[in-house]
Amino acid sequence: MSKIKKLLIANRGEISLRIIRSAHEMGIQTVAVFSEADRLAPHVRLANEAVCIGPAPASLSYLMMDRIIQVALELGVDAIHPGYGFLSENALFAQKTIDAGLLFVGPSPSAIATMGDKLRAKQAVSGYGIPLVPGTDEPIRDIEKAKQVALSIGYPILIKASAGGGGKGMRIVEHAGEFDAQMKRAVSEAESAFGDPAVFIEKYISSPKHIEIQILGDQHGQIVHLFERECSIQRRHQKVVEEAPSATLTETVRQKMGEAAVNVAKACNYYGAGTVEFIVDKELNFYFLEMNTRLQVEHPVTELITGLDLVKEQIRIAEGQALSFTQNDLQIQGHAIEIRVYAEDPQNNFLPDTGTLTRYRPPLGPGIRVDDGFEEGMDIPVYYDPMIGKLIVYDVSREKAIRRTIRAIDEFQLSGVKNTLAFCRFVMTHPEFTSASFTTKFVEDHFHPTSLNQELSETEKLAVAAFIGTWLDEQRTAALPLPASAGNKSKSLWKNRTKHG
Ligand code: ADP
Ligand code: ADP
Ligand code: MG
Repeated sequence: MSKIKKLLIANRGEISLRIIRSAHEMGIQTVAVFSEADRLAPHVRLANEAVCIGPAPASLSYLMMDRIIQVALELGVDAIHPGYGFLSENALFAQKTIDAGLLFVGPSPSAIATMGDKLRAKQAVSGYGIPLVPGTDEPIRDIEKAKQVALSIGYPILIKASAGGGGKGMRIVEHAGEFDAQMKRAVSEAESAFGDPAVFIEKYISSPKHIEIQILGDQHGQIVHLFERECSIQRRHQKVVEEAPSATLTETVRQKMGEAAVNVAKACNYYGAGTVEFIVDKELNFYFLEMNTRLQVEHPVTELITGLDLVKEQIRIAEGQALSFTQNDLQIQGHAIEIRVYAEDPQNNFLPDTGTLTRYRPPLGPGIRVDDGFEEGMDIPVYYDPMIGKLIVYDVSREKAIRRTIRAIDEFQLSGVKNTLAFCRFVMTHPEFTSASFTTKFVEDHFHPTSLNQELSETEKLAVAAFIGTWLDEQRTAALPLPASAGNKSKSLWKNRTKHG
């Protein structure tokens, strides 16, 4: 066991802040690294020390393994936390960190290597009785053979990059006629995005749910699960809204999935925090998709329903401490919802947007947690993930948590960049969401760019009326005729409100 006294966070944005905060509460000193584009970022100020590691592109800064380790050694750091994205699932970085005599806050390099490759992961868990999506268990080398497999599985099928992640590297093939073309695209995408051309076939499960299990394991072989997160609201195969617990699972299925997840972790001698992702069909049959060997974007919903701090647990595990609780000590309390606030335009295919946050005032009040990495006046850089932050809401029941999320979205003041707030509000009020019958097809089936041009809610009408009232008063005091900009002023507010809630 060795106590961590100084931690370097090899990341940026909200997750860097998130980790720094837990470290400080544990009395651990922190070192932030940053690129030239992030000089003014809050994580640079919040950490005890901060070092610029290179120019804006991630390949020249946040992905520079040796540079980051060198900074750690120079500043007398004893552990590195990789956050999510960037180097977090890079086995070589974990190994280099360990070789430099530092602790890596994450699983072993071998567990990362095994689970970071979807095919290897499937091979590793075979023999543990984990249900898998039907498909090929080796990279496709022979196209004709692959076509035969596709035919026997039955179309539609999915071609997936074995090294894929972040929703990238997936191609749906509806019928045999498309196979060759889609295969070619998949291989070249896999090569260019992940530097690994290996692809495989999976049956495309129609209208499933994505439900994942959070696990925690210590270095003494104890592994527990922290229940599930429902993550079916996705665009581009990537999550935008998550909640815990899932309103669909029965206690029996929850327990079975939990056990399966623990077995997946056992299959690679896992320690640290990890997530086992499953796809679930209407009959609540579940199939293993992949394991993410890191802290996940949506981890806060699990923290809120279990009362645990996952970053602190990660740090304690890295120090060699044993888990201080068992499975029986864990219980689900209440309900948590997370919405991801992305700088994206929901009315234009969720295309990333950049610009300046001319106004940025997150909501406050009971049950609200905002994990973000930006402040009013800051620019959203083009170089990184377009996530501005996450709004996480807690209440005693799902219904109350949904109401609270809507209240919080309505309070959120955000302008300057297109964003997903109004889209998330649309989700919160949709009958398929409130009834919990939604699937990963939700956006495709129910969302249309015009969905956001709804009537204003009562609150919004009151806000608009109040604004116009004040404005008219001001005009009267000034005793001036109504300027031509009058219409624009109220119109811009109108636009703002419809855009943001
Ligand atoms: P999560 O998996 O935590 O639910 P995401 O799918 O949004 O959330 O991924 C988290 C972050 O990691 C995102 O910034 C995403 O772009 C990035 N990411 C995940 N896996 C990979 C990968 N294999 N290659 C590149 N980026 C990845
Ligand atoms: P990534 O590494 O990019 O996160 P995943 O395997 O976790 O890749 O899949 C991401 C998403 O793609 C899932 O949440 C789901 O919505 C969809 N998906 C993946 N595999 C299948 C499948 N076999 N059938 C239907 N949808 C799938
Ligand atoms: Mg995934």
